[in-house]
Amino acid sequence: MLDLLLPPTCVACSYLLRDPAPLALPLCSNCALSAVPLPRAERRIDGIDALYAYEGALAQALTRLKFGGHRALAGPLGRLLAAGIGPTPWDLVTTAPLHPWRAFCRGYDQAALLAHYLVQAWPRAPRPRLHLRLLRRDRRTLPQTELDRRARLRNVEGAFSPLAAALKMIQGRRILLIDDVTTTGATISAARDALLGAGAAEVGGLALLRALP
Ligand SMILES: [Zn+2]
Repeated sequence: MLDLLLPPTCVACSYLLRDPAPLALPLCSNCALSAVPLPRAERRIDGIDALYAYEGALAQALTRLKFGGHRALAGPLGRLLAAGIGPTPWDLVTTAPLHPWRAFCRGYDQAALLAHYLVQAWPRAPRPRLHLRLLRRDRRTLPQTELDRRARLRNVEGAFSPLAAALKMIQGRRILLIDDVTTTGATISAARDALLGAGAAEVGGLALLRALP
């Protein structure tokens, strides 16, 4: 909530933005030059949507959020995700959970924060519910960034399973999975398989950035 009280700044370089920001992006005009919206053909791959290429100022902003402890960036970046919401009505918004140890080390889960602000900024009614405790990660996986495509798929295959307490919540629901970056889509796909296996009616995926593998 703190970010509502602070003047808006560029998510990449912290430059103070005029209010209201001249651009739809939470970026200064300089940084906005390096934000690359994905062309239509690259927006949806294997049923997973992404909005921007993993490069330039937005990649820098995500790195600040993830590794630089700049938690407040989740607000503007989560609201940016709201621009990618299509006409499909979703019942629930969730994320593929981090391994508890990794979440503990970082102190927060950036995808969960993005999902929180996305739901707050949901562009139309009815607004889905945010429900982060649908899945658990059964084993610790290697960071996907260290692996090639085939190894990434193998690394997360079967890594998630539904929480017993969430089965009723999952069954028959249309669920949107949120991630900050997608590359091969392996993580979202593995989480999607677990939700569909538990009886979800439909599962979609949306990431802010897409890195080409
Ligand atoms: Zn900037």
